[in-house]
Amino acid sequence: MHPLKTLISILDENMVTIENIKKWGIVGAGGAGFPSHVKFDAKAEIVIMNGAECEPLLHKDKELLRLYPNECIEGLKIIMDLVGAKRGIIGIKGKYKDVVDITRKHLLENMEISELGNYYPAGDELSLVYDTTSRVVAPGNIPLTVGCIVSNVETMLNVARKKPVTTSFLSVAGDVVKPISLEVAIGSTLADCIKLAGGSKCNDPVMLVGGPMMGRFSDDFSELVTKTTGGLIVLDRSHSLIQKYLRPKVEYDKIAKASCDQCNFCTELCPRYLLGHPIEPHKNMRNKAFEVTVESLIAGAEFCCECNLCSFYACPEDLDPKNVSTDLKRMIQKKSKEERLSFKPGDVEHHPMLDYRKAPIPKLMRKIEIDQFENKAPMLDYILMPEFVKIPLSQHIGAPADAIVRVGDNVKEGQIIGRPNPSKLGAFIHASIGGEVVKVDDYIHIKG
Ligand code: SF4
Ligand code: SF4
Repeated sequence: MHPLKTLISILDENMVTIENIKKWGIVGAGGAGFPSHVKFDAKAEIVIMNGAECEPLLHKDKELLRLYPNECIEGLKIIMDLVGAKRGIIGIKGKYKDVVDITRKHLLENMEISELGNYYPAGDELSLVYDTTSRVVAPGNIPLTVGCIVSNVETMLNVARKKPVTTSFLSVAGDVVKPISLEVAIGSTLADCIKLAGGSKCNDPVMLVGGPMMGRFSDDFSELVTKTTGGLIVLDRSHSLIQKYLRPKVEYDKIAKASCDQCNFCTELCPRYLLGHPIEPHKNMRNKAFEVTVESLIAGAEFCCECNLCSFYACPEDLDPKNVSTDLKRMIQKKSKEERLSFKPGDVEHHPMLDYRKAPIPKLMRKIEIDQFENKAPMLDYILMPEFVKIPLSQHIGAPADAIVRVGDNVKEGQIIGRPNPSKLGAFIHASIGGEVVKVDDYIHIKG
């Protein structure tokens, strides 16, 4: 190739364009896994960096800002330029004063820090938009409808790194010897990560993958780290929080009917109700108690964000309005669009008590009985790169990628091994270590 053409192609590969964000396989690292090339292919007034990290015991976003402030800010700037935003806001808890100070030193023009209170769920996208801009996103709408794009700290770091996503950052906390945050090759096992935290301290360890409030129960330690794995909470199977996660439907249905006294606390503290959304979990409980379905009462269940605040914090009777609400939500989501509630920007106003009814994290931690665990997880100066990885072809919202390597192929770290179907929403998948492809199924198995 002509040297000038080679130079242009190198420059093109390093430029942050929507096409390159797609090629690097960047997806929302905050848990949702929405492909970033779709999210950032828009026009917005404000880009908000979500550093709220409101799940108790998780620390990796704050650690990323502490260790890579330049890169995180560069990521924010790139996204602001891509979407034409005139304002960038970094939402971070004010209690992390040292991180706020470090971040402030690196701010660029048109950027500001919004210091958030220490409450849950400050990191919920719609709560964050309200807390940082005073704008209310209507039920069923996205932040873009009020001129905002919200993206997690790690996603912004991935944009600034200008290379394929081959690692993920996560915190390992709870009943472990030494809680840590660390960078891990995608396709490593959760057991590998827990080993680096000194192993578990309990007799029958199980995990909440994602965090104590909105995590997912698992006792399979061979599960894999993906682009969206942000936290791993280890607890004993007998821990009260684990028992809540394991409560069968028949049980929470039965206690809902027998014990709900309609005190209303679940609704009065629901963050979506406080934003003015038509969700009232106590009415969902009433519907269960009388075994009647009054459509007009339960229709708002669709707007439950599944934060678990009603079940784990608000309810004095230890009932489970969240699961009752989400069962209804799944039922409503099967209906046609015309049969469901629909809202436009400006249709709702927040509750006057919104700012005074937030759930403080220390109280929440006491309620869910995790306050005895060390609430620090410093970032290890080490990247976990095992000799064998099993990389899922589906780590994002949308269709799984199609494998483009075969058994026996030798791949380099960062090489594309899975390609999205061009007609479907999806993301590219890359090799997280160099080595030989030893198996291809729903995963690409690589031996280094
Ligand atoms: S807080 Fe509990 S007892 Fe009170 S209405 Fe809600 S579910 Fe019923
Ligand atoms: S889980 Fe409960 S508190 Fe959270 S949005 Fe749903 S109903 Fe409201």
